[in-house]
Amino acid sequence: AFDVLIVGGGPAGAAAAVYAARKGIRTGVAAERFGGQVNDTLAIENYISVLETDGPKFAMALESHVKHYGVDIMNLQRADKLIPASEPGGLIEVQLANGGVLKSKTVILSTGARWRNVNVPGEQEYKNKGVAYCPHCDGPLFKGKRVAVIGGGNSGVEAAIDLAGIVAHVTLLEFGEQLRADAVLVKKLESLPNVTIHTNAQTTEFTGEGGKLNGLNYTDRATGEAKRLELEGVFVQIGLVPNTEWLKGTVELSKFGEIIVNAKGETSVPGVFAAGDATTVPYKQIVIAAGDGAKAALSAFDHLIRH
Ligand code: FAD
Repeated sequence: AFDVLIVGGGPAGAAAAVYAARKGIRTGVAAERFGGQVNDTLAIENYISVLETDGPKFAMALESHVKHYGVDIMNLQRADKLIPASEPGGLIEVQLANGGVLKSKTVILSTGARWRNVNVPGEQEYKNKGVAYCPHCDGPLFKGKRVAVIGGGNSGVEAAIDLAGIVAHVTLLEFGEQLRADAVLVKKLESLPNVTIHTNAQTTEFTGEGGKLNGLNYTDRATGEAKRLELEGVFVQIGLVPNTEWLKGTVELSKFGEIIVNAKGETSVPGVFAAGDATTVPYKQIVIAAGDGAKAALSAFDHLIRH
């Protein structure tokens, strides 16, 4: 059995593994895809002390740091079920999709999240080539350019306000009849000179040329008219879904499916901690997930020395 078993091998899980292993305790990481979302990222320019790197390079660096401490990495393993300890201080079980069962005194959940896609032609093709999901990450790459934001909820409207300060022009597209963001955000957005808002707008296709996005097509749902926007970038803001479906009914989740954690990264289940994008911790970023992973590992260690 492990002392600390980490489920998820993104920045949160990797940081947790390094912190746990450096305490000299038996540490394992089970991950569906080691590296996590970072694998899908092109440029990373906001990981403090690293001016610029790219996703695959960063993922490799995470893995070699974790391996340096002899952590047992179980890659390509999906966890299906968490079974809390039957008695205080007992072993917690994690069942894998392949039928295997891992046992540990403490567990750190760091299964991350995934951005909801619009699922229209061109989206996969132009991902990272104009189609983006994270304004904090990729906003500066579109300085002085024309972008659209898809989604008129809080995150879409916040993204549009944020981007309006960086890019030349922002078009916000909302599928419904009106924006769904808080009134104060909508008012702020409407006050900006370089923002256009289209409601009843159903995106139908992302288009590009020479391997780069050059615009999008949408239908005005009120009139049925086909419309087109010429753009360099699109930010899709229709939701970030935590990878926590497998924890429903075991660990307390928020209404958005995020694992509810306290300031120490403790969940509702004794001995089970959580870190990163899968949790209620706000702002989903690499540096935040990594810091969170370190915190969860220290909390797990603190738990172990008391049991
Ligand atoms: P993740 O990176 O999502 O890792 C989750 C891990 O859990 C993975 O190993 C996954 O395979 C595994 N997993 C999931 N479910 C299971 C399961 N059931 N069983 C076992 N394993 C499971 N942030 C920045 O700070 N800067 C950027 O420039 C930046 N750019 C981004 C660009 C893109 C395209 C995307 C998608 C995200 C970007 N982000 C960026 C956000 C950043 O990648 C995330 O905030 C960060 O990766 C979260 O780390 P995490 O460890 O919590 O989760």
